[in-house]
Amino acid sequence: MTAFADLTSTQVAELLSGPRKPVLLLPVGAVEPHGPHAPLGTDEIISAGMCERAAARLADDADVRVLVLPAFNYGVTRLAAGFPGAISVSEATLHALVTEVCAGLVAQGFARIVVVNNHFEPAHVATLRKATAEAGVAYLDLVRRHNAERLTDEFRSGSCHAGQYETSLVLADHPELVDTATAATLPPVPVDLPAVMAEGKADFLAMGMDRAYCGDPAGASVAEGQSTFDTLTDLLVETIREVA
Ligand SMILES: [Zn+2]
Repeated sequence: MTAFADLTSTQVAELLSGPRKPVLLLPVGAVEPHGPHAPLGTDEIISAGMCERAAARLADDADVRVLVLPAFNYGVTRLAAGFPGAISVSEATLHALVTEVCAGLVAQGFARIVVVNNHFEPAHVATLRKATAEAGVAYLDLVRRHNAERLTDEFRSGSCHAGQYETSLVLADHPELVDTATAATLPPVPVDLPAVMAEGKADFLAMGMDRAYCGDPAGASVAEGQSTFDTLTDLLVETIREVA
């Protein structure tokens, strides 16, 4: 059992007094258009997929007991405004939820928490960095250079929204949610997201992403998704070891 919310209160008490250090993972995503081919919940699927894999890999670990918290799947998603299905919350709302949930757990004795996010809009990432620092919990920051350089070429190129990288990850866990026939028809849209955002472009349309994706969705594969999940799980397990 790896879902925190599946435990009884009695089991939570045993967790705190047991020999293994409890480490809680908080998956974070967003509800945001991911091209005409991938689901709105793509980022949540990736965060949950890596948390479940890390918990499974450490299931019999002698030192830590890893549990996955209910996901927080609303984020700051203003770049996608204008496309059907985008649901954005404010920075203040995201900050309050993350700090209050973490503070409540820390007060109960769960000091080891890792926030795991796969929605990389700068305002969203900045809010998570601030909230986790204030709450005194860990944040696995995948866009930091030392992490990003272990991920795929497309991810590092900045064309990392609903392209080959993300579509492959969804294919690995939820192939039924990808419209692969449509994905096969989509031309590559190379956009260096950090660069165009630095130029002040405020939404996907202004960035030349008129179908709410960049990168190369047609190049996505289950094999790449599984390989990337392996790397993401490595990164998360390393972070779990650091906080333990
Ligand atoms: Zn995404």
